Amino acid sequence: MLFDEIHSALPHIKLIERQPLSSLCTLHVGGEAEIFAAPDSIADMEEIFGFVMERNCPVYILGGGSNVLFPDGLIEGVVISTQNLNSIEWRTNLTADVDAGFKLPMLMKELRERNLAGMEFAAGIPGTLGGALMGNAGAGGHGVCELLDYVVAIEADGQTRTFNHSDIEYSYRRCSLAEGKRVIVSARLTFRQATPKDKDVLESFLLRRGSQPHGLHNAGCTFKNPEGYSAGKLLDESGCKGLTVGDAIVSDVHANFILNRGHATGDDVVKLIGICAQRVYDRTGIKLEPEIKIFAPCPLVQ
Ligand SMILES: Cc1cc2nc3c(=O)[nH]c(=O)nc-3n(C[C@H](O)[C@H](O)[C@H](O)COP(=O)(O)OP(=O)(O)OC[C@H]3O[C@@H](n4cnc5c(N)ncnc54)[C@H](O)[C@@H]3O)c2cc1C
Repeated sequence: MLFDEIHSALPHIKLIERQPLSSLCTLHVGGEAEIFAAPDSIADMEEIFGFVMERNCPVYILGGGSNVLFPDGLIEGVVISTQNLNSIEWRTNLTADVDAGFKLPMLMKELRERNLAGMEFAAGIPGTLGGALMGNAGAGGHGVCELLDYVVAIEADGQTRTFNHSDIEYSYRRCSLAEGKRVIVSARLTFRQATPKDKDVLESFLLRRGSQPHGLHNAGCTFKNPEGYSAGKLLDESGCKGLTVGDAIVSDVHANFILNRGHATGDDVVKLIGICAQRVYDRTGIKLEPEIKIFAPCPLVQ
């Protein structure tokens, strides 16, 4: 059995069997991880990730869970969380080494306290630095990868590798680091001294958040904006607002948000995503690409 195998090889790493994932994801849906681990150190992360990759076990990396959708039922394999890799070390006045599990809102707080700027666009984005780097999270044409000096990641062979800024390609909601199986463990980021104008920019990003749905569990934008279009507008014009499957509903405030009214399942959300994508395709011929990382089969357009 996988649990016994990992436990006897790596007894110092705490493993949990059948960990419910819904409470670890902002959408609050999904089943149970067969095995769940949240290593306390980069060395432990290296060991367990290398071990499961070598055995070809299914492995899922979980940051803050604000951009993922897990299926219902038992999720075979190992879910590895970065929640315990969460420190920050300032190297200079402007440069910090930040662990992958460090929360973006905490990073924003650090910057405010130190009067630093450069990440105003990330105001109000939940989740961790690792998850943000994987999807180049951001807003208003900016993304977190812009701030990178380098990233430290554990590769599929268990070896740690450093990627300099120039090694990484990134664009809107895309980062080349996401194209292989690896765990980001930390990154060095450089900021700049804030000016009064930065405060206004931050306020304007926060103001935009006001137009997004509040109060119900969600995972942010469901789809990426296709080049030249707004996914929210396409979904709205295709009559998606208010569509439901079970307790999953397309927000009537912003059509690119799917909300969990209380008891939605992973399957409900997957079906609703498929219905929305099909509606937009039937009306416009545009195939929307999910922004949420869906760890389940999800036929989008027939
Ligand atoms: C209310 C709300 C508003 C949002 N607004 C925005 C927004 O304005 N802009 C935006 O870009 N996003 C937004 N998001 C989406 C989300 O917050 C970001 O994408 C966030 O950066 C994801 O980080 P996470 O730690 O939660 O990642 P998770 O959801 O845990 O994971 C996302 C993906 O990254 C992978 N991953 C996570 N950590 C690591 C790691 N250390 N190493 C390797 N892979 C990893 C996971 O396997 C998964 O594929 C929003 C979400 C919510 C709920």
